[in-house]
Amino acid sequence: MGVVTDYRTATTVDDFRANLAAVRNRIDEAARAAGRDPAEVRLLPVSKTVEADRLRNAVEAGCDWFGENKVQEAKRKHADLDDTGVKWAVIGHLQTNKAKDVAAIADEFQALDSLRLAEALDRRLQLLGRGLDVYVQVNTSGEESKFGLAPDDLPEFLRAVTAFETLRVRGLMTLAALSADEKRVRGCFALLRELRDRAREDDPALIGPGELSMGMSGDYALAIAEGSTCVRVGQAIFGARATPDSHYWPS
Ligand SMILES: *Cc1c(COP(=O)(O)O)cnc(C)c1O
Repeated sequence: MGVVTDYRTATTVDDFRANLAAVRNRIDEAARAAGRDPAEVRLLPVSKTVEADRLRNAVEAGCDWFGENKVQEAKRKHADLDDTGVKWAVIGHLQTNKAKDVAAIADEFQALDSLRLAEALDRRLQLLGRGLDVYVQVNTSGEESKFGLAPDDLPEFLRAVTAFETLRVRGLMTLAALSADEKRVRGCFALLRELRDRAREDDPALIGPGELSMGMSGDYALAIAEGSTCVRVGQAIFGARATPDSHYWPS
């Protein structure tokens, strides 16, 4: 279950088939080890920094969704890969002035963390006459560099967000502490599950199916042990990324 760091770069369709199968096997094993049905865990490939030609091979190998942290990059690739029918999840913090782009191209938004943003998204979605599946991001690590709501603010937020009819809350999303301490990482995932369970007890209508988007290349087995239903995996599918994580989670 430890931290995995030897990521093999995939370029060809066969490379992608191999990496996807390896990750899927490890997901299934982690689920079974936790007494869970592997079919409960969705694999969301995270394609940030990977260019469109390689993504085409990933689509051919079976990817039908990509997750992107930055909306400008998602917008560009959405246009490049329009003919493939692949779907896009925006998984990174969004500034209110970019709500328009998410409303236009995203099939899912996993980083909802303020009512101002909910309002901006709702306004844009109304104009387009569409709805959007969203996950509420919670900061479970207490690290200031991580985006997301404070755990204590979640219940009130979930009640308030029902005012926005275009936003369909599917569940919660988090990033664990970036730490080699497994107990600390697991604690973040366990907290997200507890918050979901409490929200369900308060009012099941507020949390939709109660999905838990948690776990990345280095920690998804731990996340699955704690109940993850969506793992967001980049490097273990595409290969090691040169861009440091601080580019995505500024401190
Ligand atoms: C990049 C990213 C991931 C995936 O990280 P990997 O180490 O590439 O698996 C998951 N979630 C978010 C929000 C990300 O930005």
